[in-house]
Amino acid sequence: MKSEELFNESKKFLPGGVDSPVRAYKPYPFFAERAKGSKIIDVDGKTYIDYCLAYGPMVLGHANPEVMAEVILQLKNGSAYGVPTEKEIELAKMVVKKVPCADMVRFVNSGTEATMSAIRLARAATTRNKIVKFEGSYHGAHDYVLVKSGSGAMGLPDSPGVPEETTKNTILVPFNDEDVLLDLVKDQGDSIAAIIIEPIMGNIGFIPPKKGYLEFLRKLTSENDIILIFDEVITGFRIAEGGAQEYFGVTPDLVTFGKILGGGFPIGALAGKKELMEMIAPSGNVYQAGTFNGNPISVTAGLTTLKQLNHSFYSEMNLKGEKLRDGIRDVLVENDLNYQVAGLSSMFQVYLTEKEVWNYEDAKTAQIDKFTHYFQTLLNNGVFVPPAQFECCFLSLMHSDDDIQNTLEIIDKGMKTIKNL
Ligand code: PMP
Repeated sequence: MKSEELFNESKKFLPGGVDSPVRAYKPYPFFAERAKGSKIIDVDGKTYIDYCLAYGPMVLGHANPEVMAEVILQLKNGSAYGVPTEKEIELAKMVVKKVPCADMVRFVNSGTEATMSAIRLARAATTRNKIVKFEGSYHGAHDYVLVKSGSGAMGLPDSPGVPEETTKNTILVPFNDEDVLLDLVKDQGDSIAAIIIEPIMGNIGFIPPKKGYLEFLRKLTSENDIILIFDEVITGFRIAEGGAQEYFGVTPDLVTFGKILGGGFPIGALAGKKELMEMIAPSGNVYQAGTFNGNPISVTAGLTTLKQLNHSFYSEMNLKGEKLRDGIRDVLVENDLNYQVAGLSSMFQVYLTEKEVWNYEDAKTAQIDKFTHYFQTLLNNGVFVPPAQFECCFLSLMHSDDDIQNTLEIIDKGMKTIKNL
């Protein structure tokens, strides 16, 4: 197999043979040749229905014709300028229009940079140092947040190379638990700069907030002058036009984006209230900068993507998601399995546990050894989901009824494989 050969070669030049940890699974990952719509095709010519979608960005499917056409036009005019462009204003205006908390936007290059900058801004604004994050949440690969993280860091000890002095300012709490936070804020509220939360936990599978939990957080943070940061790198422009904050009707002070905002090209952003955002340099003195910030290719792809995400898009995505999740539930019933099917709109995951999953501890009851077999069966049969139990799966606009039907048949095979293990 060419993928296997490439992986062996790759391991000589790239640590672990990949550029991001979760991509390396056993025995070897497939190497991509191309992708179109709902499909990704590997170097051996095998086609997969893709539910990884580059870990979320490809909400319109791969190689969307409008996005590609606009990007090609932009490419002919140059790919990076280091000076401002009109399109940056256009994309910022679009974000402001769609997202409840956004008065102003700073474009960066990744979700990691976005959360790092949002935390710096919150610390500067409050002149406090501590931040609160949730067990199993993932906010990127920078030092402030690499403590009991989800995604590729799930289950790994916190990374060597992160100084204790940095992480001692990061306080961990369980998701969906009001009492722990009440006690914490009572004790240490006046040294907490920010609470950073994925309003839906998407790096530990899929965990929604309990009813009223985000409202509780909003009240608690407002009353204690703590900045509430929604990390919507996954949920932004996916769950609703205005993201999870619109869906749940809770408006944070700051929000971070990535993934969909770049329409398949690298991007990140932080956005929020004017008085906070104006503290960022050069308007204020909170330093943030980047050679590729506001890159015209990413901005063009983002603009062309966001223009296509209207009300009917979200209705369609909800229907696709429900169809798939209902289908998976039927498969489970037919196989006499009592696993949890979680999801909303175009996000989903099957937890291989019988326990309802509301936080990190619940998620950890999933049988990850079985997940490996399930994943391999899906892959062998042409369905690509992210290769870990603690990632989330995504649908795109291009996933057809046939794709969903085929997927359900293959998920049935996957469940039969693990049933008697
Ligand atoms: N926050 C969340 C919620 C994420 O899911 C991710 C990436 N999966 C990040 C931040 C980091 O984004 P990036 O990989 O673009 O740095």
